[in-house]
Amino acid sequence: MSSSTIDVNKANNRVTDTFQAVNPVDGTKLVGDFKQDSLLNINHAAQVAQDCFLEYKSTTSQQRATFLQTIAQQLEDNRAVIVSRAQLESGLPEARLNGELGRTIGQLNLFANNLLNEGWQQAVIDTADSGRQPVAKPDIRSHNVAIGPVAVFGASNFPLAFSTAGGDTASALAAGCPVIMKGHPAHPGTSELVEQCINRALSACHLPAGVFTLLQGTTNELGSELVRHPNIKAVGFTGSTTVGRLLMDIATSRPEPIPFYGELGSANPVYLLKNQLEKNAAQLAEQFVLSMTMGAGQFCTKPGLIFAIEGLGLDTFVKQSQLLLASQQPYTLLTQGIKQSYLASCKKRELEPNITKVTNRAEDGKVLAKLYQISAQDWLNNPDFEEEIFGPQALIISCKDNEQLQELSEKLRGHLTATIHCNEEDFDQAERLTTILNNKVGRVLLNGWPTGVEVCHSMVHGGAYPAATMSNSTSVGSGAIYRWLRPVSYQNFPQALLPDVLRDDNSKGIWRQVNGQISKQSI
Ligand code: NAP
Repeated sequence: MSSSTIDVNKANNRVTDTFQAVNPVDGTKLVGDFKQDSLLNINHAAQVAQDCFLEYKSTTSQQRATFLQTIAQQLEDNRAVIVSRAQLESGLPEARLNGELGRTIGQLNLFANNLLNEGWQQAVIDTADSGRQPVAKPDIRSHNVAIGPVAVFGASNFPLAFSTAGGDTASALAAGCPVIMKGHPAHPGTSELVEQCINRALSACHLPAGVFTLLQGTTNELGSELVRHPNIKAVGFTGSTTVGRLLMDIATSRPEPIPFYGELGSANPVYLLKNQLEKNAAQLAEQFVLSMTMGAGQFCTKPGLIFAIEGLGLDTFVKQSQLLLASQQPYTLLTQGIKQSYLASCKKRELEPNITKVTNRAEDGKVLAKLYQISAQDWLNNPDFEEEIFGPQALIISCKDNEQLQELSEKLRGHLTATIHCNEEDFDQAERLTTILNNKVGRVLLNGWPTGVEVCHSMVHGGAYPAATMSNSTSVGSGAIYRWLRPVSYQNFPQALLPDVLRDDNSKGIWRQVNGQISKQSI
């Protein structure tokens, strides 16, 4: 990538500072200089986003669907160059990145298709009743409208699917919100190539340039000042609990507080119930090792906590996991920072009393998968044991009996997922656990593994804090659009002044709630 591809004059006020991406394999700088955006650039991006907001929000669902489909096509047309740069910047294998680009394209198309049924507007109508006593009932009709320009933070661990044209961008653009993307400094070249695809789609669809701006840089101020900017009306973030919390506090303490949709740390507890574990310990260990080491353990859904009852089944599970992990190759993590943080967290864990290292290969400077074991009581005594360690690491917690296993689940904080492995003989216990766990997580899985998040209408990728900062939302699937919408009701409006989805004739034939009944009928 050369600096000639960088649109340095976009705002006519770019600073000249640049930075380079770092090769995660050896820490050397990669070719290509990238702009260090400044406060001036934030102001400019926020101004152009505000200036075009009303125009963009007023586009039809069909126009926005076409725009998303055009971005998807641009990504497909530029697949080879995008994947190859993402490989250099992330150290992730080509096949994984090709799959991730496919997922990114799929997400854009999902939102495009879903716009067309107008369901996102959630049209609700209560007709007037002038004869109602003691006072007449007014005509009230509501639907959703775009919230305003939004800020989105690209994620280090998904350079494509949770970055520049990723799920947060796709859902916000679908909702009618201009997006200011704060690119992740680990993959600036990938972000810029995807930005060019979005810009070409904007131009092909005759939409204002202010609908999308990418800001890049390596200073913490870029992100925090973006969240502070008064034109920003909501934020989407994927990253660490520490930074997510810091930015959430900025978002909520502004003169005008705004919603902050942060997807933060999760250790994704897995429960191996007694009867299933006794019958299938070795097979469960195989599946667990595969899931825990997938993407070098850098998925927010990596199974990081395994709860099971002491006994022969657990012994077999531990031994088999140990055997499989001993043959794993060392891993390259996404950034030097993530590598340092992984090594430091594992070292800290190993210094704790009463912890058993299941894996015991010498480190020799490379990153190896790590598995630890601890008793339920010792786990309870130290809240740090519930924290996510980002990378190929997991902790097994041995419980005395079902009661202790349940007690621990009641004490859990919020996580993205919880998984139960059981057979029919364990169903009573599984039912009790589900009732507890559905208060804590966004997705409960049965006899599966949490890595791999289907992008569909029913997916909930969220959970109680600290998995997510807003426990009543999802960042994956078509439901993600609702983060960028707000409901508005219109009281006693004449037909001519109502939005078309709320008019009596229901010209689009969409599903609406009319006087409490779901209907496609005109009124
Ligand atoms: P991060 O450190 O939380 O950074 C995320 C974003 O916030 C980046 O754009 C970063 O860019 C910005 N940022 C960092 N410090 C900031 C500050 N003080 N003020 C304002 N903005 C700030 O996440 P990361 O770089 O992706 O990885 C670090 C750790 O995050 C990992 O080790 C892992 O624990 C966690 N993580 C979790 C998930 C998950 O899904 N659970 C995903 C990715 C990462 P600048 O540094 O340039 O400001």
